[in-house]
This record gives sequence, structure tokens and C-alpha cells, in this order.
Amino acid sequence: MSKEQSAYCIALEQLRLAAEQLNLEDGIHQMLKVPKRSLNVCITIRMDNGEFGVFNGCRVQHMDARGPFKGGIRYHPRVNLDEVTALSMWMTWKCAVIDIPYGGAKGGICCNPKEMSKGELERMTRRYTSMIFDIIGPYRDVPAPDVYTDAQTMAWIMDTYSQIKGYSVPECVTGKPISIGGSEGRAEATSLGTDICAREAAKTVGLKFKGATVAVQGFGNVGWNAAKIAYDWGCKIVAVSDSTGGIYNAKGLNPYKVYDHKVKTGSVVNYKGCETITNEEVLATKCDILIPAALENSITKENADKIKAKIISEGANGPTTPEADKVLCEKGVFLVPDILANAGGVTVSYYEWVQNLERDHWPLEEVNRRLETKMAKAFKDVVTTAKKDKCSMRLAALMLGVRRVADAIKTLGLWP
Ligand code: GLU
Repeated sequence: MSKEQSAYCIALEQLRLAAEQLNLEDGIHQMLKVPKRSLNVCITIRMDNGEFGVFNGCRVQHMDARGPFKGGIRYHPRVNLDEVTALSMWMTWKCAVIDIPYGGAKGGICCNPKEMSKGELERMTRRYTSMIFDIIGPYRDVPAPDVYTDAQTMAWIMDTYSQIKGYSVPECVTGKPISIGGSEGRAEATSLGTDICAREAAKTVGLKFKGATVAVQGFGNVGWNAAKIAYDWGCKIVAVSDSTGGIYNAKGLNPYKVYDHKVKTGSVVNYKGCETITNEEVLATKCDILIPAALENSITKENADKIKAKIISEGANGPTTPEADKVLCEKGVFLVPDILANAGGVTVSYYEWVQNLERDHWPLEEVNRRLETKMAKAFKDVVTTAKKDKCSMRLAALMLGVRRVADAIKTLGLWP
């Protein structure tokens, strides 16, 4: 996290800018600043060594004017209520920008999943699910994967929820394994959306996408799949990194082989034929397209000026601070903001939920065709707003999202 501003401060500042530009009523602005509901839970489990393990978790529900709350659950040692609140707000704008009938939420548990056994993770997930049980559900709030949670985590959530209910409720969570109602294409959806945005951005700025050089920060689910898809589409992946460091090869890397190397060694570093670089240096790599797909606050005012990419497509949530945004804007970098660039994940989550409610299963082609249409439409909407209001893509996306949510709030009215 940056020394100056927390994620929630950044989210509030972004909301303030959008509210100002939109001339938003003060009452609605006040309402959107604070989540509708936040639940803190203390999750106690039996660790493998027989001792108690005590973890802090939360579920934050920001706004549900456009539909049930929706958003992932992250496991990370840095998780805190401030960060999860910001992430829940970003989910609200994201669902509105991509135009799916959901509100925004996020959950998290402060833990170090890398140091926990599968059994401990399962017990922690199940206990957490039971503790947020009252506020989640298919028409209430639908969790999904986020940093260090995956399809298996979602399976445990589905099972715990279903066991408590007494019948199977696959639609209570998305990002599940396909064998229990997960959607085709969900695992790659965020990355596919990020790459679609990079491709559309390339068209917009007149850059040839095929053969474009790409650097990816982060090699988790989003980063690795984004590198793989871009490679499959003919881009040249010149640098990738994970939490242990980065690698660079001007001639290009094969992300499939880097992935195998990471599975074997636990890191992308020391992959053959590459120069070892730092995580910071990945951002400054000479490339056409930069995909930050790690955590918040990676691109700051300290390093923004070193960025050489012409296009940034934000696979992560909140990777760029507002000060860095200004620097990038002045440099003329075409930035596709997180609430648009990584909306592919929640979009396919929505398709999964629809399939579950209809007891249906769509083929991959159908899922990807719908995703492609949704992403391209949202990209166009944001570009149009940016041109009309002569503002950055970030502000345009925020304006679009905030306006749609504000319209829903006004249309619903207040009860009582
Ligand atoms: N965690 C993902 C995100 O930040 C996915 C959320 C979802 O599918 O509900 O967009």
C-alpha cells in the first residue's frame, strides 16, 4: 500500500471526481461513500498442529440498487477492512460499467494462504461461510474468487451454504469447478476481458496488436492467463513477474513454458534465457502494452514516469494511484481502467449464475461470444464518454458507473 493513501481513500477520491463531473446530488454522493453493510467476523479454526488459529475476516456490501451484491473473496496477509471496502465500491462501479444486474461487495480474510495446509484452508473457508451465511445467498450476495482463492474455495463455500440450507444451491457462489455448476470460460474470463480491452485500445490508438510487445506484472490466475491469451493472439510477451521477482527477454517468452517453470520451482525467476529483473522494473519495461495484474498501488507517482508502454490494461483492482494517473495522462498513455479492463471475470460470473438459475450449461463458444460483445460495448461506451467529456478513460468509466447506480437509486426511491 502507498504511504500516503489507503485504497478506500483512493476510492473516495475517485468517487468525488466522478460526482463533481456529474453534478451528482449531495445525498446520493453521501450514500455512495459508505457501504450499506459491513460484517466483521473472527474465524477460529483448529490448525493441523491441534492449536487454535484465529483469523479476522469481513464481508462488505457496498450498494445493491442495481441487483444483488456481487464480488470476490480474497485471502492475503494484507487484507483489512479499508481495502475490502474500497474493493466493494469498485465492484459496484464495475458491474454498472459492464452493465450486469448486480451491486458491489467484497470479502476477505487476513491470513497467509501460502503457509496453510489444504485442510486448514478448507476449515477456514467453511467457518467463514457459516459466519457470513445470513447476509449472502443467490438473491442477496454472491461471492466469487479473488486473490489467492480459487474454484476449490468456491466449492467449499457452495457445499457449506448448501449443507446449512439442507439442499444444493449452486447459484449461491460463482467461479466454481465445472463439475458442480461452474461456467465454461470462467477461469480465463478476467484475463480474456483484459486482453480484449488491450486489443480495442490498440485499435483506438492505431497500434498494431499482432506482434505488439507486452509486459505482465503478476503471474497469478489473471496475469498468467492474460500472458497466455495475448501470446496466443500473436503478441510478444517480453516480461512477466510474480511476488518473487521478474524476468525479461527482448526476443519474447513462451508463457506456457514460464508457467511450467513456476509450477516446478515456485517462481518465474531463473527461467532460462532471461534477464532477472525486479517487480518494479517490469513496469518500466520497454513494451507497447503493460498489464498490471498484481495488487493495488503498484503504479505510483514514484514510478509512473518510468513507464514506457503506450497502453495499460488494468487486470488488477486499483493498481494505479490517482497521482500516478495524472502522470500517465500527461504522458499520453492510453489507460483502460480496472473497472472496465478486469470486468470480464464478474461478467462470466453473471453468466454462471444465470446458467445455475436456469439449470443450464452453455458451451465455451457461447460464453466467450457473449463476453466479447459485452466487453466491446462497455469499451465503446467508456471511449464515447471520455471523448464527450474530454476526460481520461478512468474518469469516464467512473462517471458511467456512478451515473447508472445513481439513476437506479433515484428510480427505486426511498423506503419508508
Ligand atoms: N474478484 C473478481 C473481481 O474483482 C471477480 C468478482 C466476481 O466474479 O464476482 O472482479
